[in-house]
Amino acid sequence: MVFRSIRFRLTLWYAISLAVVLAASGFGLSLYIYNNQISHVDDRLLLIATDVSAFNLTLHQNPLATDACEQLEAFLRQRNWGEYVQILNERGNIACSSTNLKEFSLPLGKLALQNTRIGIPFLETLDTLEHHPIRMVTFPVSPQDRNSTLIQVGHSLATIEHEMADLRLTFLLVTPAALLLISLGAWLLAGKALSPVARITRTVRRINAENLSQRLPVEETQDEISELVETFNSMLEDLEGAFRRIKQFSGDASHELRTPLTILRGETEVALRWAKDPEEFRKTLASNMEEINRMGRIIEDLLTLAKSESGELPLVLTQFSFCDLIQELYLQARTLAETKRITVGLQLQVTEEIMLRGDELRLRQMFLNLISNAIKYTVDGGRVDIAVVTDSGFVVISIADTGIGIPEEHLPHIFDRFYRIDEARNREDGGTGLGLSIVKWIVDAHHGNIRVNSTPGKGSTFTVILPISGPGVRHPVKR
Ligand code: ADP
Repeated sequence: MVFRSIRFRLTLWYAISLAVVLAASGFGLSLYIYNNQISHVDDRLLLIATDVSAFNLTLHQNPLATDACEQLEAFLRQRNWGEYVQILNERGNIACSSTNLKEFSLPLGKLALQNTRIGIPFLETLDTLEHHPIRMVTFPVSPQDRNSTLIQVGHSLATIEHEMADLRLTFLLVTPAALLLISLGAWLLAGKALSPVARITRTVRRINAENLSQRLPVEETQDEISELVETFNSMLEDLEGAFRRIKQFSGDASHELRTPLTILRGETEVALRWAKDPEEFRKTLASNMEEINRMGRIIEDLLTLAKSESGELPLVLTQFSFCDLIQELYLQARTLAETKRITVGLQLQVTEEIMLRGDELRLRQMFLNLISNAIKYTVDGGRVDIAVVTDSGFVVISIADTGIGIPEEHLPHIFDRFYRIDEARNREDGGTGLGLSIVKWIVDAHHGNIRVNSTPGKGSTFTVILPISGPGVRHPVKR
């Protein structure tokens, strides 16, 4: 489990990258130091070779010179040079060599010969001569002469090799220890950085459908974790809202359907037990039909609302003549109002055609709800007036009645689902208590606004304001 954790993986990646960096820098550093040392040795070899070459020339110019090789040895000792020195004559044979070479001789390679023939000193590293490599220069005494006397000076690289071995050992010992320490630090740091994640996990584990109101504590760090927490909290908020709506929907539905169902059951039982002739059965069935219709309406309205809330009912936007729509509604209103002898008036105070962008069917449904409410809650012989005006890009429609009015304390709730002011009377009227909720949804979906003024006993006025250019661009809502 621990091997799969982000903490472990972070530490591992950190350790691996650090190991690669340490190895590369160790390798680079030792190469640099080695090359530096070699270049010092080379300088020294060239210096000695030049010196010996000068000495060799004076030796030959001195006719009194007896044993040249002994003099060379003395010269080297005097200068305190412990290097191997060997002098090759014009034919390439060893003329002299320092005593420290014992039975060995410094080799003359092809490349060295080629270079010295054109007067260039040649530097090389010999691996085969001793236990340790030797750095050697082959130096022409007279560079312009193809067959010049050659001076060879060799320097054992034993010390440098030892130093390098020590350096490598130090690296090998220090690197793993540093890696271990730094990995430990990385492990602790990763743990600290990820500790909010563990805390979030613990809290999230406690959240379920029953306590969706819980939120994760947001820390003021403004980092990725706090962003994650905020996102999670807003997701919880959405989920909670969705859950609340589902709960409300099922609660509302069962509550509202229970009454008509009880009536249905009661009436059917009574009919089955007591009804004697077909006329009584017919009456019961007719009453049952009413309840069934009512249930059908409730279910339909509830589904419309549920779908609208979950965004499953997108508006079908078209541009249509709003004056035509209002005139059709006016005619419908007159038909509806006929039985109650209610007068319906229309004041269309517009000078030109209003081409409104919106969902015509939904808007028709919305206005019909308002008009049928106005008629429903107005006593016989009253009035319902529909008025339309335009106001800088908005169309304002008011539906005023001389009905029973709405007491002030109910006004804030009338757009709530199933909110009815007078249960008993509303049932008789066949209202579901969902009409105004649907009205509100349709107005909101068009980015419009609705308000209501009412005086109990005198009447109510519902005013709808809609942007003429439709809901595409949100207008500052006018009140
Ligand atoms: P319903 O189907 O019961 O009419 P609505 O959602 O359409 O449900 O209306 C909610 C409540 O608001 C109604 O029960 C009624 O009491 C009140 N109401 C709505 N319109 C009017 C109105 N024009 N006059 C008086 N009361 C109204």
